[in-house]
Amino acid sequence: MHREASERKRYEDVPVNANPLFSRPGEATDFPRYSLPDGPSLPETAYQIVHDQAMLDGNARLNLATFVGTWMDQHSDKLYIESADKNMIDKDEYPATAAIETRCWTMLADLWNAPVATDAIGTSTIGSSEAGMLGGLALKRRWQERRRAASESTEKPNIIMSSAVQVCWEKFCNYFEVEARYVPVTAEHPVLDGHGLADVIDENTIGVVAIMGVTYTGAYEPVAEIAATLDRLQADTGLDIPIHVDGASGAMVAPFLQPDVVWDFRLDRVHSINTSGHKYGLVYPGLGWIIWRDRSLLPESLIFSVSYLGGDMPTFALNFSRPGAQVLLQYYQFLRLGFEGFRAVQQSCQDVAVYLSGAIGEMAPFELLSEGRDIPVFAWRLKADHTENWDLHHLSSQLRERGWLVPAYPLPDNLADQTVVRIVVRNGLSHDLATHLLDDIKASVAYLDGLDAPAPTPAITDSFHH
Ligand SMILES: *Cc1c(COP(=O)(O)O)cnc(C)c1O
Repeated sequence: MHREASERKRYEDVPVNANPLFSRPGEATDFPRYSLPDGPSLPETAYQIVHDQAMLDGNARLNLATFVGTWMDQHSDKLYIESADKNMIDKDEYPATAAIETRCWTMLADLWNAPVATDAIGTSTIGSSEAGMLGGLALKRRWQERRRAASESTEKPNIIMSSAVQVCWEKFCNYFEVEARYVPVTAEHPVLDGHGLADVIDENTIGVVAIMGVTYTGAYEPVAEIAATLDRLQADTGLDIPIHVDGASGAMVAPFLQPDVVWDFRLDRVHSINTSGHKYGLVYPGLGWIIWRDRSLLPESLIFSVSYLGGDMPTFALNFSRPGAQVLLQYYQFLRLGFEGFRAVQQSCQDVAVYLSGAIGEMAPFELLSEGRDIPVFAWRLKADHTENWDLHHLSSQLRERGWLVPAYPLPDNLADQTVVRIVVRNGLSHDLATHLLDDIKASVAYLDGLDAPAPTPAITDSFHH
């Protein structure tokens, strides 16, 4: 049973309480949990209940599992409150926000080396998931239109990706009925690198997804090598297969830290790129971006019009109404930091990641899978012969007792017998905090190594898909 469902069953008849300290004499202090209360309560009382309940959530600062931003400065907070009422779709009511959205994605097109940034087209979204769906849909629609024009079947589209893709791509395939063709990650080919592509591509392939910053390890997939493989394939077979880059994290890291890595619109084959504004774009949750290198790559048939200052404005997001505030916050960060500011922030995350991975790699029980030199994310595993008494799930539980959320999870498919632990270094994990974390990892290992019998097996979780 799902956790929510079991919570509902267990607590069905248990009311939500307000501490009598916060309610007025005579006011109810019990509220039904799963039905609307009969009448209103004082705003102070309702506030206190929500505030107290939300406090039970984890401490975001110590959550090293998520990629998503959990801290912005006080000017952002002020802007957020000032703009909480803005609806992104209402371009007529909020033309200034609409113009800022366009500025933001044009800046990204420029950052990602679009041949002519002002010829690119893009949009904000709720996150990389929505952005990726749009990228996938454009690939599918272009393939369909080409096939229909040639009177060929459009029954069986497929898309190629590594077996280590983020769950949003499995969703895309499921929701939009595209066959997912996975190239398995193996010990020899830990990322999609062009190897095995020729075996899975055919005339029904709508595109290849390349990941800049694989969720499991933080590694970049070599987009230029993938593109070169596809060039050779085209020369051999005539099939012209485009690439969508899932740069959820890496598209906001590589331009600053690895400017010489060629992964973006410098490659003709890269039609579209998505990123999460709320990851290394340094904005609160609820913001993604997708950009196509030029307008011709986004099929007209996917574009709708909304009225905008009496005229029409194109829209092609999956959601209709959504918050405009995050877009303003992204613009704030662009202005506030500029290129050099972003570089400095991402560099300090990388320095912390490399410091942590270096120290962890030196600890006797562990070996590193990555060092955090692509995106500032790294993973490690337990050496096969280290111990029979504990595994990485126990380490994760130990760290949890000390307040840290550091997930342990199995690698995908044919590496699924390997469990790894992963740390995402985000803005806010300072060198100082990292030192505390290292101390806690050392203390946890000392405790676990001191066990003289196997530790009880904790529940296995794989809640890493953030
Ligand atoms: C986080 C992530 C996603 C999903 O992004 P959201 O912004 O959370 O929707 C997709 N792909 C990769 C590689 C990611 O890291």
